[in-house]
Amino acid sequence: MGNQASKPVIAIIGGGFSGTMIAVHLLRTAVTPLRIVLIERHDEPGRGVAYRDQPECHLLNVRAEAMSAFPAEPDHFLNWLNTTYSPCHPVGTTEFVPRRLYGAYVQSILEQARSTARRGVSLEQRADEVLGLRRTEAGTRLRLKTGATLNVQQVVLALGNPGPADPPISDATFYSSARYQGHAWSTQGLLSIQRDDSVLLIGSGLTTLDWLAALRDRGHRGQVHVVSRRGLMPQLHRAAPAHHLSFDPLSLPPRVSLLLKRLRSEIEAAEAKGGDWRGVIDSLRPYTQRLWQRLPAAEQRRFLRHVRPYWEIHRHRAAPKVVETVYELMRAGRLQTMAARLLGFEETADSVNVLLQPRGTEKLVTRTVQRVINCTGPESNYRRLNHPLVRDLREQGLIEADALGLGLNTDDHGALRATTGEVSRWLYTLGPSRKGQLWETTAVPEIRVQAQALAHRMLAELPSVTVDRAVRKLELRSQP
Ligand SMILES: Cc1cc2nc3c(=O)[nH]c(=O)nc-3n(C[C@H](O)[C@H](O)[C@H](O)COP(=O)(O)OP(=O)(O)OC[C@H]3O[C@@H](n4cnc5c(N)ncnc54)[C@H](O)[C@@H]3O)c2cc1C
Repeated sequence: MGNQASKPVIAIIGGGFSGTMIAVHLLRTAVTPLRIVLIERHDEPGRGVAYRDQPECHLLNVRAEAMSAFPAEPDHFLNWLNTTYSPCHPVGTTEFVPRRLYGAYVQSILEQARSTARRGVSLEQRADEVLGLRRTEAGTRLRLKTGATLNVQQVVLALGNPGPADPPISDATFYSSARYQGHAWSTQGLLSIQRDDSVLLIGSGLTTLDWLAALRDRGHRGQVHVVSRRGLMPQLHRAAPAHHLSFDPLSLPPRVSLLLKRLRSEIEAAEAKGGDWRGVIDSLRPYTQRLWQRLPAAEQRRFLRHVRPYWEIHRHRAAPKVVETVYELMRAGRLQTMAARLLGFEETADSVNVLLQPRGTEKLVTRTVQRVINCTGPESNYRRLNHPLVRDLREQGLIEADALGLGLNTDDHGALRATTGEVSRWLYTLGPSRKGQLWETTAVPEIRVQAQALAHRMLAELPSVTVDRAVRKLELRSQP
């Protein structure tokens, strides 16, 4: 174990993909003693919300070839799949594999990094929740739910995707009913849905498609209603030829309308030559963060108000097998989608009447169901989040929500800005919490790059820890 008391300590709060990959890079890079403490309120670090407790039918929404955890080793996930998981039936580069496998992959990476770390570089995993922290003379003291405290020098908030907020309605009593599940990422609620129950899914994104697939797999035969403001569903993933943009998007004036116009004509030209809009959308990805950062605040708001829903369904597409489920349910007449505003719920002894106003009309309609599942996206507004640690940090002014309500203010590397504007040298974040700054920051291809860069930055702030220069050089070379 070495001398625990004299080692610098880094605490990583949250053991999803983001937190785990920070731990992995610290373990790989530190040469002299360092204690890394990874604190996850669930007992299985490495999985996080997306890759934990998932039924087989919940697939990655990114092809296996793009899901390596390491930017410098693009085939790392595929190699793991084909050596560890499926040596007899090689997984193709374009396959969409079950998400729970990805959780096992991330766990194996952590284990490998831990077992090959230098002497004195240690990882401690704690199943606990961090409720708050205080600055002390020696650094920072974390307060945990079990009553324990922990003194550390640096802290990473890898809190990930907060659960969704309940849709706003005038009387929220129904939200405490057993017929309502407010958090769709756990499919626990599936178990209590009877075969012939009617179900209402609020929202029509990828989580809704997950639920449709899971219901189908459990032999559900009842009616499913999907309601969202615009009634848009994710587009289908399809192999598309790689596209090379014929223009430099960063040379356009920073206006959403101009960019969209240019993108539309690029798509038309590509399709006229046998290409596919998917290739064009994907070719924009290396520019997305810089495009977002160049937009003035008013343009970012315009994008969020008018373009976001359309952007989301084209950018975050669904695996073909999942889309097939939707078609199958539609053909069987068991799935109804509606663009509508949710007005309220009236619970009776054996059902719930859901009051809706179809989009663009004044009329009111009612749907009667047995279950309501909230499949809307994460509540990203840190001003409103009722998360004990976030509340504590907010009250101390140590974090500041960004102006758009998408995440937290940070510098370019993920160091958090306090409400005074000061950039922290001990408190950092990565992943979904940086959405306001980067927009494209919630998926593996972006988080893996951030995790690597942030681990190097944090070690640079700890002069007592020596780093492996060869690893650092190799990793920094792979940064885009
Ligand atoms: C359902 C779903 C499917 C997805 N599918 C894909 C996909 O196929 N491909 C892709 O690239 N991306 C996908 N994503 C995007 C996803 O955001 C990233 O891939 C990645 O998993 C995010 O990891 P994270 O660690 O930032 O967040 P999370 O996975 O949300 O992990 C954060 C962790 O922090 C813990 N935590 C929070 N507060 C505390 C506290 N105070 N104390 C202790 N622990 C705490 C939580 O318990 C949680 O486990 C998906 C996201 C979701 C929600």
